[in-house]
This record gives sequence, C-alpha cells and structure tokens, in this order.
Amino acid sequence: MIHSEAERTPPAPIDDELLRAYLADALIAEDSARVEKALRDSAELRARLEEVRQGRQDAQLHTLGAIWHRSRLTCPTRQQLGSFLLDVLDPGLADYIRFHIEVVECPFCRANLTDLEAQTQAPTGSKSRQRRILQSSQHLLGEEKR
Ligand SMILES: [Zn+2]
Repeated sequence: MIHSEAERTPPAPIDDELLRAYLADALIAEDSARVEKALRDSAELRARLEEVRQGRQDAQLHTLGAIWHRSRLTCPTRQQLGSFLLDVLDPGLADYIRFHIEVVECPFCRANLTDLEAQTQAPTGSKSRQRRILQSSQHLLGEEKR
C-alpha cells in the first residue's frame, strides 16, 4: 500500500496558535479554509476559538482603537473630501469619510475639510464673474446673429 504525501505530512492540528493566527487573518487560504471547516463541524472548537479570541493580546483588532489606527493610514484624498462636501460620493465612501471625520476625528482631514469648505463658500465672487463672462458671451452671440 502506497502512502500519499498528505499522510506522511499530516496537516498541523488545530491548536490555539493556529486559531490565533486564524483570528489575526494570518493564515494561508488553505489553512484558513481548514480551520473554517473544522469550526463548522465542531461546537467544541468554536468555543475554543471564542476563548482564544477573548484571551489574545491583540483582541482589539476590531475595536474602535484599531479602526482609528487603520483609518489614520487610509486618509481620503483631498479630492474625495471635496466630493464629500459636494455630496457626490457613493454612499459607502461617504460613510467612511463621515466616520473618519466625525468619529476618528482625524485632525489632518478635518483641517483639509475646513479649508475646502472655506473654498466652496468663497465663490460668490467667482459666480458673479461667471455671470459677467456669460453676459459678455451672450453679447457676442447676439453680435454674431446680426
Ligand atoms: Zn485623515
């Protein structure tokens, strides 16, 4: 009888360390799938996963602090902030930016946003300039018609 490669090197048992890696999303897809399958099949393992999750040092993975940290690394661009002000972003991104500004209170983006707000409130001058340009071009059109 021929032993297959898999039998000679059996997959590592699902121990706490593997569960911890699974929680940290640090497993290769193959292992991750194996853990997920085992979790589906075993209530005992699910309980152990919960224990590991509560005990692990980096359990704050999904806490506000972690989100804050992650968000700091992914500031929206100035262009996205501008679109956010104009309310022309897709809802998902708008929600993210709202979270980033209002919950995370990223000082960098808040300053950027204040700056952009000042710019969008300024255009009273540029609007009348636009009107002037429009009037002068209407005048030109009128001239051409004649
Ligand atoms: Zn930011």
